[in-house]
Amino acid sequence: MSTSKIAGVDVSTEHFIDGKRVASKQTFANCSPIDGKHLADVSAGGAAEVDAAVAAARRAFPKWAGLGPDGRHRVLKKFAQAILDHGKELAAVETADNGSLLMGNLARVIPRAALNIEFFADRALKLGHDQIDSPEVVNHVRYDPAGVAALITPWNGPFMLTTWKVGPALAAGDTVVVKPPEWAPLTCSMMADLANEAGIPAGVLNVVQGIGEEAGAALAAHPDIDRLSFTGSTDTAKLIGQSTARSLTPVSFELGGKSPYIVCADADFDAAAQTAAGQYLNAGQVCLAGTRLLVDASVADEFHSKFRAAVGHMTVGDPREKSTRVGPLITPEHFKRVEGFVDRALKSGVKPLWGGKRSSVGELYFEPTLLEGARQDMEIVQREVFGPVLTWQTFRDEDELVKLANGTCYGLAAMVFSKNQERAMRIASRVTAGTVWVNCFFVRELAAPFGGSRDSGIGREGGNWSFDFYCDVKNIAVLKGSFA
Ligand code: NAD
Repeated sequence: MSTSKIAGVDVSTEHFIDGKRVASKQTFANCSPIDGKHLADVSAGGAAEVDAAVAAARRAFPKWAGLGPDGRHRVLKKFAQAILDHGKELAAVETADNGSLLMGNLARVIPRAALNIEFFADRALKLGHDQIDSPEVVNHVRYDPAGVAALITPWNGPFMLTTWKVGPALAAGDTVVVKPPEWAPLTCSMMADLANEAGIPAGVLNVVQGIGEEAGAALAAHPDIDRLSFTGSTDTAKLIGQSTARSLTPVSFELGGKSPYIVCADADFDAAAQTAAGQYLNAGQVCLAGTRLLVDASVADEFHSKFRAAVGHMTVGDPREKSTRVGPLITPEHFKRVEGFVDRALKSGVKPLWGGKRSSVGELYFEPTLLEGARQDMEIVQREVFGPVLTWQTFRDEDELVKLANGTCYGLAAMVFSKNQERAMRIASRVTAGTVWVNCFFVRELAAPFGGSRDSGIGREGGNWSFDFYCDVKNIAVLKGSFA
């Protein structure tokens, strides 16, 4: 088996198909965003590897589905425990691979990934007992496993976001083929070994590494998948949707965002400023980040000075250091994209209140940036930058606020800061978003629905919404008094 030593951990660089490691002749180079160092040459799969993985998942499906929720629960609990047991290694490899903050990976991301498996394994035990009475019949609702699920995930949180799909899919009784992101493929490879060690049978969880346009496209176009769950950019989702439309494969899409961060005149400015500075964490490579600050004009100066002070603590640096809050952008290509957005905005008259350029820390590090003076129709307000770049706009009344907040094609999340409950709830109900956080940010409950409106997604994950997707929901309507 071909492995590379990453942050002291031996990580396989091959696919995992039908319980075995499989190499491709073609490879792609994987580098660390921390210092640009080459980490590994990873197998680059295509149609052949995808075919093999889907066939393995299809063969494994009847037995895995037949285990029932109890049988699957036992092995999924072991899988969750294996993730926790290897938490330090997973966190270190994730940081090396995608530049996310090590402290955050250790404290939150990896434990949450284990919970993604455990939570859905527990919840599946309670599925399928709904009975709906009606005058003539009793409706028995069943959640039957759907079949083979294709799971395609992005680089900004590959391990957590993949387990967020793997957990409910496996708990529901589906078998899966995972296509990890080529810019950060390593922890998904480790996931396959942990699943194997935990006793998940061969073929139930397969991983095909590769480039999106090759391995990802082959998976999306495969005629023998029953579900496709994708987290990534809106543009890629539109391509995937063209493939899945041909086979009518049901899709779940978690996509990009340009979330409004709303500060009302009666907000707790200290809390709002601290949380606003947190939008720069992981260099703003967070789908949910509140990248459009919308501040009540009557308190703009006061809030601005508190925000500036809070951003002063957002140290840019090596994501392995405890003091770092803003790490690198993922690749030179992505850096250029982020820089391009900022340069074009500055050329069109937008002013940087701070930042706006490469940080002296290194090649892929961009300064936390706040841009003022952008019109609503400008690219910098309309398009997802996916970097540490926020815009600053003010509003005079609630109608203007709602118009600005809803004035993009996205609808992933929104944050509202106000001490007035009625106002906060009214604004929250008027804003188009899958999740609105009031006086907080990024507090995630696995039982609650999660997803995006408009171009930010299709469907919801979390709680039973995940099972609605990964199951064939069946109603058995039994005529009352018809049995002997
Ligand atoms: P991306 O769309 O470029 O890639 C995502 C995945 O799709 C990768 O595995 C990639 O290899 C694959 N892919 C690329 N082209 C493909 C194709 N033609 N067919 C099939 N698969 C293909 O996104 P990214 O740059 O990896 O991630 C950043 C994006 O993800 C941002 O837009 C961000 O907002 C979004 N995101 C959303 C959420 C959410 O929960 N809504 C969470 C994290 C990231």
